[in-house]
Amino acid sequence: MRTSRAAAISVGLTLTALLGAAVAAPAFAVDPEPTHEQRVGVEYFPQPGGEGRRTEVPLTTEAATGRAAARSAAPAGATTDGQVGKLSVTGPSADRLDVVIVGDGYTAGQQDAFHTAAATKWAAITGIEPYSSYQGLMNVWTVDAVSAESGISGDPSADVTKDTALGSYFWCSDTERLICADIDKVASYAAKAPEADLVIVISHSTKYGGAGYSGLEAEGYPFDGVSTLSSDNAQSSMIAAHEIAHSVGLLADEYAYDSYGTWSGGELPDINSSIFTAERMAANRTKWYRWLGESDPTGGTVGTYEGSSYYPFGIYRPTANSLMRALNISDFNLPGREAMIAGFYREANALSSKPGASGAILRTRRIEVSQAELTGLAAPELSWYVDGVRVRRAQGLTSVVPAALGVPADGRTHTVRVESVDRTESVRDPRVRAEATEKLSWTVKASGRKGPEPR
Ligand SMILES: [Zn+2]
Repeated sequence: MRTSRAAAISVGLTLTALLGAAVAAPAFAVDPEPTHEQRVGVEYFPQPGGEGRRTEVPLTTEAATGRAAARSAAPAGATTDGQVGKLSVTGPSADRLDVVIVGDGYTAGQQDAFHTAAATKWAAITGIEPYSSYQGLMNVWTVDAVSAESGISGDPSADVTKDTALGSYFWCSDTERLICADIDKVASYAAKAPEADLVIVISHSTKYGGAGYSGLEAEGYPFDGVSTLSSDNAQSSMIAAHEIAHSVGLLADEYAYDSYGTWSGGELPDINSSIFTAERMAANRTKWYRWLGESDPTGGTVGTYEGSSYYPFGIYRPTANSLMRALNISDFNLPGREAMIAGFYREANALSSKPGASGAILRTRRIEVSQAELTGLAAPELSWYVDGVRVRRAQGLTSVVPAALGVPADGRTHTVRVESVDRTESVRDPRVRAEATEKLSWTVKASGRKGPEPR
């Protein structure tokens, strides 16, 4: 995770808070009961392939239903409880978006099944663009959570209760397909991995279901989003692909509730929702105007389609359908794709080096850089500069010596800079291109006397 992420997340939270307030205000204004239970927003998908719904659920146990979350500690004895595995580790956590996958409802003898499920789910998510091309900016860790019983509560029916490590359960808030979990327990397991930017809980079940928690950083957790999903139901993979897009891409939901009527507010910060129709969007040069008229991976043409951010009228989305509207399609639209790529680069760094940048080095000191391995849509380019002048013959080199780059032995100090730019055609906004550009530089000292050691 990069430090610049904080600003992006706070924008996301403000947005979530705005939407959350708009959604929840009528329901909670009439509730006279003071509640001591912290509640948090979740999104769920009642039908496989359908549109989402939002509600609020408790952060930990749901006392009203008598469903006891996380009743027992992990079984004693030699188990793998708490053990961290590397599903896909591509670089240092400081330079990567770190995803942590934790299993629930897997006994000590079923941890292999959890690892298989984690690999299968991650493969399904990264089968979708732009996750696919940008996997090299992500680390994926697994954490074993050993449950006393196999399976989770609410499967197959509401009356079934299971004693599991994370207390995950169907029928959360009386909604069959909504899988909630004890977020404190989830956090304690996730904390065993080196870093958690996003957490996925895989609940051991063949039944369709899942959820996406958001706004958790505001509740004091070190990560903002948790996605839950059932392990052995192929359609549940899409829930995580959608939820991660809220956290990483700051994308809004493109579906609407009939009862919400017409949006009468101003323009929202949502990247993929706008009060402007195509003509005005183009005239104002705002939102996804650069993509208008393009054929889209979702099958249609990018335009302005009425209904988005929960309102059926008065607010528009970029395409007729997309993964942000319903889970019956596994593509983001072009504006969504660009927003996701922007998010990956906000949270990860494609370029690292040895020695570290910003230090003073000798002209004979070798500089090694490594670029994240990106494929498909990505088009990373590596260029070297001496005193601001590009050294064309060094294009793409990952190991250079300043002297060989042409830094002269003239008794003066010079600057060597390396730039990684992603020229992907999936980015059109210059601000996103700048986000997808990483620069490192070194001061090359003139004399043979060694300066302070670079960090
Ligand atoms: Zn959503």
